[in-house]
Amino acid sequence: MTATTISAASPGSRILGACPHDCPDTCSLLTTVQDGIAIKVQGNPAHPHTDGALCTKVSRYTERSYHPERILQPLKRIGPKGSGQFTPVSWDAALNDIAGRLGTIAAREPQAILPYSYAGTMGLVQGESMAARFFNKLGASHLARTICAAAGAEGLVHTLGDKVGMRVEFFAEAKLILIWGSNSITSNLHFWRYANLAKRQGAKLTCIDPRKSETADKCHEHIALLPGTDGALALGLMHELIQNDWLDHDYLDRYTLGWEALKQRALQWPPERAALVCGISPEQIRALAKDYGACASSRAPAAIRMNYGLQRVHGGGNAVRLIACLPALIGAWRTRAGGVLLSSSGAFPVQRAALQRPDLLDGRTPRTINMSTIGDDLLRPGSPAFGPAIQALVVYNSNPVAVAPESARVVQGFAREDLFTVVLEHFQTDTADYADYILPATTQLEHWDVHSSYGHTDALLNRPAIAPLGQAKPNTQIFRELAARMCLTDPCFADSDETLCRQAYGDEVDFELLLRQGFATLATPEAPFAQGHFPTPSGKCEFFSARLAAQGLDGLPDHVPNHEAAHSSNAYPLAMISPPARHFLNSSFVNVTSLQHVEREPLLEMHPDDATVRQIADGDTVQVFNDRGNYQCRARVNDRARAGVVNGLGVWWRKMGLNGTNVNELTSQKLTDLGGGPTFYDCLVEVAKSGPILRTDL
Ligand code: SF4
Repeated sequence: MTATTISAASPGSRILGACPHDCPDTCSLLTTVQDGIAIKVQGNPAHPHTDGALCTKVSRYTERSYHPERILQPLKRIGPKGSGQFTPVSWDAALNDIAGRLGTIAAREPQAILPYSYAGTMGLVQGESMAARFFNKLGASHLARTICAAAGAEGLVHTLGDKVGMRVEFFAEAKLILIWGSNSITSNLHFWRYANLAKRQGAKLTCIDPRKSETADKCHEHIALLPGTDGALALGLMHELIQNDWLDHDYLDRYTLGWEALKQRALQWPPERAALVCGISPEQIRALAKDYGACASSRAPAAIRMNYGLQRVHGGGNAVRLIACLPALIGAWRTRAGGVLLSSSGAFPVQRAALQRPDLLDGRTPRTINMSTIGDDLLRPGSPAFGPAIQALVVYNSNPVAVAPESARVVQGFAREDLFTVVLEHFQTDTADYADYILPATTQLEHWDVHSSYGHTDALLNRPAIAPLGQAKPNTQIFRELAARMCLTDPCFADSDETLCRQAYGDEVDFELLLRQGFATLATPEAPFAQGHFPTPSGKCEFFSARLAAQGLDGLPDHVPNHEAAHSSNAYPLAMISPPARHFLNSSFVNVTSLQHVEREPLLEMHPDDATVRQIADGDTVQVFNDRGNYQCRARVNDRARAGVVNGLGVWWRKMGLNGTNVNELTSQKLTDLGGGPTFYDCLVEVAKSGPILRTDL
């Protein structure tokens, strides 16, 4: 196997793969190939977590891969930036020009080059392997990949010690499950299977989410708190656990750090105070605390499944810290079906240094640009504090013009005529419209990759099922060829994709097993923290973090109000969250016709009370606005939105929006308390009935 030749599977075969999308489930795929064509993508029945089932989105993966609008040859811009006017060029012409232009900038100031990538594929190889080597060798700016999970990750690390938690399969044995900030049926389907099993065996399920989601519909209770108040709810629960002595004192004594201090803080949060902040009733908090506290004395397993929505607010890191503290209060970690899970990714022994080769920096320490403030940073002039203005941007596995916050600034930055932009893509996305070159990238059916997961503890291998379509190339190969043209001769640039796959876990995972069955289960303990052993500096669950205190931050978690808290503005009285539309995954799948037909058009869910006072009826076109912009969409008046909160379902491509914008026209570039994450769900708006619909063809 060489770097450039990935052979297609033999006819009629079924090829093992892995879902590449940004979803905790990381399903094992089976692709059926006939005559070199992938005719069906299914869930692998032999993989226990996938259990033969895929979500609706990825079931349509062949429709996406063979989409008539797939980019299958390099394209060069011939119109103004953003106009979407391109002409086909040869790979040689494109790569020679790109290498020349990047080389000129690198010779002057390599930090003026910025890679921009995220989880368009979650693969370790087509993500940050050859790409990272290339940018490390150049000495390009680093990118802080914060846009999804940074605050929550920091919160976990400073409490449990890493991105670790209970194993997802044991939720099936829990007796109480709090589904906190997660629409699992839409975005964590295979967890939901375990939760449903528990439900059938008598478990109580409570959903905590501002939106009355499809998951909330199926739970016994739904607590519709205001966005950004999850930390206050956790403190209110702790107050009740303490007051009623629903505590596991032995666990607290042995395996936690900072209990007395946390206790004093929590005692400042009686249910009345927490309820006022959360916009719910004190009785709801007392009832939830009673359910959770009952598990302390009965030893019934209580499990919490958090997801990342709740940490996309100013206090997201602290909220995750507070929720991650809860299991220790009642000793829930003592059983394998108790505890909390936000991410399991810390369990994977990924050999990042082998893949990314930071040694190629050769002692240089480039600056780091936060991907969540790309709008502002593209518009920043050079300065001693910032360093050089960004002159070249290489975008792969991401669509920042659609997904980065405060779109108006992002668009303004991407529209800079002096910015050289290269985009590796499957489709002409909003971001690709602003490229100088669009380079056709392979899909998951066409390349090798290796995957970890943030929802379970199995490593997966993805084999190519078909040959690359048209002239598409894997990301790895594109960076390999650019490196060659820029005379970067380190032997690591010749590593093949299969070699990179083997390097991803080194000897830590049996690669032959991955080749044979497509997945390999990590050897992780069933009840990892039953007797402490948290991977923190103290080995305990750290209610108090000396590491945070050393940074001048509060060592104890606290409720941190939103930047744009509900009821804090007369001009913009509605809080907006922007969860994904059910059939989209971030901005992926938006152009898959069958899925687009289900979603139909961009929607804003609005509570009947909020709609009535604005004389808005279900189906009206509305404008949603604040000081950052104006977004037009269709109002869906129903009780999925709680009063005072609107749900702008995303993330549509801007060019498919009614007025050429999407929900990120309204979001801000303000950051979270920990981790420098974005605050998509910390956004105040007003809504007004709009004029006639501008587009009816969706
Ligand atoms: S998006 Fe999630 S549920 Fe759907 S196939 Fe991929 S991993 Fe599975």
